[in-house]
Amino acid sequence: MSVCFNRIHGNQNLKSYFSQAITGEAMPHALILEGQNGSGRYTFALELAMSMCCKAQEKPCGICNNCRKFKEGISPDVVTVTLPEGKASIPVDAVRDIKSSASKVPIENDYKFYIIRNCEKMTVQAQNAILKVLEEPPSFIVFILITTSASLLLPTIVSRAPVFRMQSFTAEELTDILLNNYQKAQKLNADDPEGFSYLVRAANGCLGQVIENLDKRSVGNTTKRYQLIEDFFCALIGNDKYSFISLEEEINSKKREEFVSFVSDIRIALRDVLCVKKSTQAQLLFFISEEKAIAFASMLTLESIVNMIGFCNEALKNNELNANMNLLKINFMSGMWKRAHS
Ligand SMILES: [Zn+2]
Repeated sequence: MSVCFNRIHGNQNLKSYFSQAITGEAMPHALILEGQNGSGRYTFALELAMSMCCKAQEKPCGICNNCRKFKEGISPDVVTVTLPEGKASIPVDAVRDIKSSASKVPIENDYKFYIIRNCEKMTVQAQNAILKVLEEPPSFIVFILITTSASLLLPTIVSRAPVFRMQSFTAEELTDILLNNYQKAQKLNADDPEGFSYLVRAANGCLGQVIENLDKRSVGNTTKRYQLIEDFFCALIGNDKYSFISLEEEINSKKREEFVSFVSDIRIALRDVLCVKKSTQAQLLFFISEEKAIAFASMLTLESIVNMIGFCNEALKNNELNANMNLLKINFMSGMWKRAHS
């Protein structure tokens, strides 16, 4: 018997760790998978569960009865907990059922899985309720906690579950994977190479994000997103208060998730600007042309770039804490202007 995760791209460290853990029957009873949205955490969690219950010689086969049921979400032995719709947190009730069901043996398999998505959104009470099971889990239970960052969980949870980070791909690695495996990517690259390149760079290293955007055919949107960031830098650095104010109006009309991706884009663009300022061989994650990053870098001091990155982090953190959106937007724009001109 062997365990190989053929359907998972990259993530070599994780794949070899878990293939050894599963063949050696040394799988941890609880683990944390962290990574950005779209980094494949849930897919990987399902592949892990499939590997432990697959009937084929080469696991997970993806087609045996067990694998199929896991993939289709109809196995009684996989419980997925998600953020309830319209709620900002996972309440204790959602995990209370886990406590009572965890002691019962699996129905169809040797193992039973609890996959908790957005587990950083669990209230402290909910986390404490999970902790009770994590302290002495029955031997047939595997908890897979999915999060953007383990640092957002109670330290008592993290101390009982090893943390595994999904790989973040470089633009070159993403391009390679996409062009070798996805027809839609090949077609887009042939029809509109620049649009394809934008799409790859806008994904911040997440394969899932590119695939989602390819499906939505949101290349136009992605290009627009890029233009907005360039306009932002031009207004900010060119000291063009008039353009900046009209941008502020545009930002103020954005929905929460659009604002969050705007701030994330700025942060990653600033990271490029910082890299070209410090090194002549920087690998760019956002800008397609190095010239642009260099031009922006020459107009900003090192200190102001670092301050702006810190300010982006702060804004993203405040969003996580459900800060008032209107205040957050206004504060962000004026704060960035101040930091660029200090
Ligand atoms: Zn199988």
